[in-house]
Amino acid sequence: MADVMLGRLARYLRLLGHDTAYERDITDAALLLLALKEGRILLTRDTGLAARKVLPRGRTFLVLSDDPARQLKEVIDHFSLGPPPPEGLIGRCTVCNSPLARVGVRQSVRDLVPEHVFLSGKDFFRCSGCGRVYWEGSHIERFMKDMRRLLKDG
Ligand SMILES: [Zn+2]
Repeated sequence: MADVMLGRLARYLRLLGHDTAYERDITDAALLLLALKEGRILLTRDTGLAARKVLPRGRTFLVLSDDPARQLKEVIDHFSLGPPPPEGLIGRCTVCNSPLARVGVRQSVRDLVPEHVFLSGKDFFRCSGCGRVYWEGSHIERFMKDMRRLLKDG
């Protein structure tokens, strides 16, 4: 679970396939309770929040960097998260955190993506939660390439 200051980090983690909760409008108390109830690890930039003794030991991680890519590196290193999904695969929806599935029948997304994208023959991925459609070659794919490089080079 990412705190309100870590929206970009939350989106990055989702793209990499990690189940990441993020609420924009939530009080510290509600955030802690939700993390506790759902058995989540709290990622926070807030030293005060990190010091609260609500969550079990080791279930809070204080993120140090201001830069989202560096933050991602901190989290991945600390929790020894596995390698990112293979080329051409995206993990979870950046909006609602639900897993994405490759679209089998291309025709089913015809009306949901721009004409030139549909005609380009790209693979499509659809969110199992909100229905949002993703495709290769978008800014997301560039992000994934950057991330693979960052994680490899350390
Ligand atoms: Zn979604």
